Amino acid sequence: MVYQANSERYTQMKYNRTGRSGIKLPAISLGLWNNFGGTDTYENGRAMLRKAFDLGITHFDLANNYGPPPGSAEEMFGTMLKTDFAPYRDEMIISTKAGYKMWNGPYGEWGSKKYLVSSLDQSLKRMGLDYVDIFYSHRPDPETPLEETMAALDLIVRQGKALYVGLSNYNAEQTAAAIAILNQLGTPLLIHQPKYSMLERWIENGLQDVLDDNGVGSIAFCPLAQGLLTSKYLTNIPSDSRAMKATIPFLNEKDITSELIGKLQQLNAIAAERGQSLAQMSLAWALRGGRLTSALIGASRVSQIEENVAALNNLDFSTEELTAIDQILRS
Ligand code: NDP
Repeated sequence: MVYQANSERYTQMKYNRTGRSGIKLPAISLGLWNNFGGTDTYENGRAMLRKAFDLGITHFDLANNYGPPPGSAEEMFGTMLKTDFAPYRDEMIISTKAGYKMWNGPYGEWGSKKYLVSSLDQSLKRMGLDYVDIFYSHRPDPETPLEETMAALDLIVRQGKALYVGLSNYNAEQTAAAIAILNQLGTPLLIHQPKYSMLERWIENGLQDVLDDNGVGSIAFCPLAQGLLTSKYLTNIPSDSRAMKATIPFLNEKDITSELIGKLQQLNAIAAERGQSLAQMSLAWALRGGRLTSALIGASRVSQIEENVAALNNLDFSTEELTAIDQILRS
């Protein structure tokens, strides 16, 4: 059936300004790292994308290597763009990245101009796009001069292949240095994409200050700690969870210790008192205080997107709640 987007889609979502830029992003964005690859069910991915857009999610995050196999998420997304979202391209913020290994040889990963420019050309072809809205350097390169990587981002914008640039996985010092170079080049940094959740708070020790001081936005990846901060693992490890998927080596059964489950259960009790699921409270917590532009979730089914977007119904925390959460996390 021809897809017709929900006419109410902009009434439910909250949109936050990205740093000091002209761009607003939805408080919740959708990433296609998992469940949109060549080995996944096309119709499930398509239903999730439609549901996300219908709920006001305008931002979709990809990378050259998302799959498996690498590149297949961009291909799948490109097909869905063509079949379902062509009339809505100007209502979408589409991002992709390069940094991790994509092809063999010395030019297939890291941060050289050669790699970044060729990789984005490949991504555009896979998605059938003339340009992406945001292009990221996916990780800092210890060998390539930062000036070269930033010059590549500037070049890509001047070539019209991306409208804005972002950095991911750069620490506070690397980010400050990159911001200075990009400002000199005249292509200011739009956004940083770090890992951030109740279980991973490193950005609170410097990076967030650098971003705030420089008017740069932030979008947190893995805000649900790959599913740990949801109702999923409170009693057991379900067979259809990411932790049990052999193709995804980033979350393992052995990481889900009884100590961790104990903490998750305590957090879940606070969420219940707030009238939220653990996933909803975790997203609200990541967005607390308005420092984060967007929480970048993943999903394996439509119902998770619905549940997660409903987190926006209660983003406020009392001081007592925040203290209780900190105590659980520290214990
Ligand atoms: P999350 O922390 O949001 O984890 C998503 C997973 O949690 C889902 O796939 C699902 O797993 C489970 N889940 C989500 N919602 C619920 C719910 N309501 N109830 C129960 N389980 C739920 O994020 P991801 O780890 O998926 O990362 C999100 C995005 O961030 C990626 O798609 C990518 O765009 C980006 N990213 C960027 C990186 C970078 O280096 N820049 C690195 C990693 C990710 P299940 O399969 O178990 O159902």
